[in-house]
Amino acid sequence: MSLSFDPSSVALPSGHFIGGEWIDATGGIELLRPSDGAAFAACPIADADLVDRAVTTAKQTLASSGWARVAPRERTLALQRWADLIDAEAEKLARLEAIASTRPIAELMAVDIPVTAEQIRFFAELADKEGGDLVPTASDSVGLIATEPYGVVGAITPWNFPVNMAGWKLGPALAAGNAVVLKPSEMTPFATLYLAELSVRAGLPAGLINIVLGDGRTTGTAITGHPDIAKVSFTGSTAAGAAIMENIARTGIKPMTLELGGKSPQIVFADADLPLAAGAIARSILGNAGQACVAGSRLIAAESIAEELASLIAERMGQIRPGPTWEAGSGYSPIISERQIGRMESIVGAAVARGARCLLGGARLERPGYFYAPTLLDAVEAASPAVTEEIFGPVLTVQTFREEEEGLALADHSTYGLCAGLYTRDLSRALRAVNRLQAGTIWVNRYGRSRDHILPTGGYKQSGLGKDLGREAYLANRKSKSVLIAI
Ligand code: NAD
Repeated sequence: MSLSFDPSSVALPSGHFIGGEWIDATGGIELLRPSDGAAFAACPIADADLVDRAVTTAKQTLASSGWARVAPRERTLALQRWADLIDAEAEKLARLEAIASTRPIAELMAVDIPVTAEQIRFFAELADKEGGDLVPTASDSVGLIATEPYGVVGAITPWNFPVNMAGWKLGPALAAGNAVVLKPSEMTPFATLYLAELSVRAGLPAGLINIVLGDGRTTGTAITGHPDIAKVSFTGSTAAGAAIMENIARTGIKPMTLELGGKSPQIVFADADLPLAAGAIARSILGNAGQACVAGSRLIAAESIAEELASLIAERMGQIRPGPTWEAGSGYSPIISERQIGRMESIVGAAVARGARCLLGGARLERPGYFYAPTLLDAVEAASPAVTEEIFGPVLTVQTFREEEEGLALADHSTYGLCAGLYTRDLSRALRAVNRLQAGTIWVNRYGRSRDHILPTGGYKQSGLGKDLGREAYLANRKSKSVLIAI
């Protein structure tokens, strides 16, 4: 059966989802479909009172359901039922996401939705395995490090992988015994609402997951500054992360996890397997049309192989299948908005005006919606915004080096340190580079996340604070209490 669907046939959830119930809301931010530019819905904006209602509901649900106090295995089983329902309802979730976002339906069905279910199961399994510790103290006492949930976690997610990002926040927070108030991006809110509805159908206490819709300024600020939000978990831009830190500092200090932007290098040494490197690099910048925090957007290649590598990458970047996200055959994403296309045009235009060579692309695709051609920019100045700024689009810059140290120095970004890719057959060189690179994730002779959810993800420098995924994400949702018992 084909996955293609008619976008006008999809009934969108409307309103906020609090305490297991829909709260009607109309008006708000007009939404345009990236695939064809058609206006199709609006995202209402929750004010501080509605956020307060969601937080109070979450708090009351924790008290009445005993979610934090039940045998941890009960949380495991409940979350596994939810993950099973996510798999069973994958097509509906995928449609709700595809219609508003840039994710093609085939990729949602093959990757985003099943991986989200898998990651929720991963965290569910940690609930009865990760705990405190019995620690060595003097023999007249027993020392314990006990852990307990925070209470109500405030989560805020970006527009680019809505369901998956919601899973990254909800999975560990709930497994660790918390309740959540989550605000999805105002641009892609629908699938997250359905994810929450499914949790209630799966038997999770209504009110454990509460979704409030809205923008960052009104709704986001109300969440991060709410006195009963005990911890904040955020994914989005570095600028918004900084604004959140400021708000938290002003309204009452609380722990936060910030997963922020990136401008990740791909370093290719002369001895690398070039076809392998070219494939990995092209996939990393074509995936979601470069609208991924991990996009490997800066190619740093040994001078002797740079030309051959660039032409291999260009060949792969030329093989795209653009199309509306609701058509099964579409394999190349639109850009989220006209504004983002304009930003790309201005950054690429400025680089070319200052001498960069456009080896491929450099313009929007002439078709309905917001599509931008895969773009390869050679001879770019190191100080050009094309090299320094997170473009969040399918733009790959090329810089070259002669000596190993020169290449690694180029890789070092003054602001970002999310990920790095490196390609070499020399094990010693790979390990030297791994030691030297300042990034939260380093991929060697491959690029991009695997299904090894045990590996935490998070940034160095201004790419973030704390980790998502892995044990670290689970433990970040519990606070620790040191206990010393005299015998
Ligand atoms: P964004 O920062 O504009 O918005 C992200 C979310 O934060 C949205 O829900 C938005 O409404 C909210 N927000 C904005 N300002 C806020 C404020 N002052 N207080 C509270 N909430 C606020 O980012 P975006 O355009 O949605 O997403 C793209 C960005 O996200 C890129 O920079 C990308 O690198 C980053 N990202 C990072 C990761 C990661 O794991 N590090 C993953 C995905 C995306």
